[in-house]
Amino acid sequence: MRCEAAEPTTLARPETRRCVECGMAYGTPTFGYHEGILENGPAYWSDRGILCSPRCSLTHFRRREAEGTLPSEPAANPFAFERYGG
Ligand SMILES: [Zn+2]
Repeated sequence: MRCEAAEPTTLARPETRRCVECGMAYGTPTFGYHEGILENGPAYWSDRGILCSPRCSLTHFRRREAEGTLPSEPAANPFAFERYGG
C-alpha cells in the first residue's frame, strides 16, 4: 500500500500521512522532506504523526508542551527507511 488515491472524506487513521498540525498531505510539493526528497520521508515528525515544516514542528512542540503531553523520548521514524550505510 504505497500510493493511496485521494479519498476526500475517509475517516483518518492516526498514522494517516498528513501534517498533524496543518493537515498538509504528505506528497504535497511544499511538504518538508528529509533532504528535500519525497522518497526520503518526512523531515519532521512526532509520536502523533508527521509534520510538514519547522514551523509546524515548533507549533506542535509548543502545543504538546502546553498540554503536558510531550513524549519523553524521540518518536520512531514512521517511515523507517534504512540509511545506515551498512
Ligand atoms: Zn504543517
